[in-house]
Amino acid sequence: MCGIVGIYAPGRKDIARAVYYGLHSLQHRGQESAGIASNKDGKIQYYKEMGLVQEVFNDEIIGRLQGDISIGHVRYSTTGESYVANAMPLVVYHKGGSLALAHNGNLVNARELRDRMQDNGVIFQTSIDSEVMACLIAKYSRDNDMEQAIQRTLEEVRGSYALVITCGEKLIGVRDPYGIRPLCIGKLPDGFVISSESCIFPLIGAEFLRDVEPGEMVTVENGQLRTVKNGGKKGRAVCSFEYVYLARPDSDMDEKSVYIARSNAGRILAKEQPVEADMVIAVPDSGTVAAIGFAEESGIPFGEGLIKNRYVGRTFIQPDQRMREQSVKMKLNVLRDNVRGKRIVMIDDSIVRGTTSGKIVKMLKEAGATEVHVRISSPPVTHSCHFGIDTPSRKNLVAANHSIKEIRRMIGADSLGYLSVEGLWEAIGLGGCSICAACFNGEYPIAVPETGDKFVLGKAAV
Ligand code: SF4
Repeated sequence: MCGIVGIYAPGRKDIARAVYYGLHSLQHRGQESAGIASNKDGKIQYYKEMGLVQEVFNDEIIGRLQGDISIGHVRYSTTGESYVANAMPLVVYHKGGSLALAHNGNLVNARELRDRMQDNGVIFQTSIDSEVMACLIAKYSRDNDMEQAIQRTLEEVRGSYALVITCGEKLIGVRDPYGIRPLCIGKLPDGFVISSESCIFPLIGAEFLRDVEPGEMVTVENGQLRTVKNGGKKGRAVCSFEYVYLARPDSDMDEKSVYIARSNAGRILAKEQPVEADMVIAVPDSGTVAAIGFAEESGIPFGEGLIKNRYVGRTFIQPDQRMREQSVKMKLNVLRDNVRGKRIVMIDDSIVRGTTSGKIVKMLKEAGATEVHVRISSPPVTHSCHFGIDTPSRKNLVAANHSIKEIRRMIGADSLGYLSVEGLWEAIGLGGCSICAACFNGEYPIAVPETGDKFVLGKAAV
């Protein structure tokens, strides 16, 4: 998962600063690296580095990135190692000029395309799938205009992608035919914004206009927004995990509020997995909205049981297990006086590897909770994601290898209950045919490479 943003606002000073603010609001989508590329009359200047947005940029760097169009990226690696060459935006120079590209998603056929291109003499400078796209676009731009070159490229790639691209005097936004990764458009008084999430719009003075449709390519040029391609839609398969965990609750995606989806998930969970207890607590922050929904539906009071150190990053988003384990210890502390002597319902958004949940249950019991009942506001994660979330192998997924009874024992909970897949669909409100829930049910919208997972083409592919 990554965050992308592109702003078109000729005449506006400090457009790179607006992108910087946007990236700040998308920081939850990736914490490894950050980058901004600005386009002035077709000439592109860029800066990218490892680290958080506020660590990477300062006034002097932002001041250098002058332009009328600017794009930015925050990275969380799913393909390619975690080093600066793999940071984005990618800037490539081709016969007709230069282009900068920022990608959120994951191509499932990048390996074969890369092998084929390398056999034909193409030299890659990074190990990320996004460079395959950038090189193909550059190649096809020799004989086509930029939108046609992008379109020809998209005919060859398979997987999930939300893209922002700048070249010439254009800002281009693209979403894959299933709309797996989110992308939306905002209107500025003097231009347009294209972003992974709508939560950035208030901060930069934009108003939400609409989502980019699955399979749609939009171009902003000469002050106008136009749809270049609208025929690529293959069946909506929006990532349900965005609503459960990834996105900010103050974002709307595909006309559905992330906040309401999470609150609904908590309410439905309370009906599906009732329990007698004294207090509902959340694993902050992504479990909080569902916990409030659970409390409202069940009548059990909501209270704070865990305090988060806000200056430590999200555990799941850290690239390796050792770093994740360290983060859990640093991230949460128990409010002992609030949980002591109480039967607690602990709401979390998901259990991926199970290590975090077990540690938190132990902390709550050590603090004096008499019972800890764990309720999860999503179904068991049984399958790997191949579309941009870092669950590369089923052997890392506790629910792929253990029954719910076993997981309950492993994490030391008094009871454990998950939201059903049907409950998740109902909570989001998009209908099962419009949602990718492959990590919960194995029904992938796009055929993915063999890795030991069971691949079934899902409803969304019909
Ligand atoms: S497999 Fe899961 S995380 Fe990946 S896109 Fe589908 S719902 Fe989202």
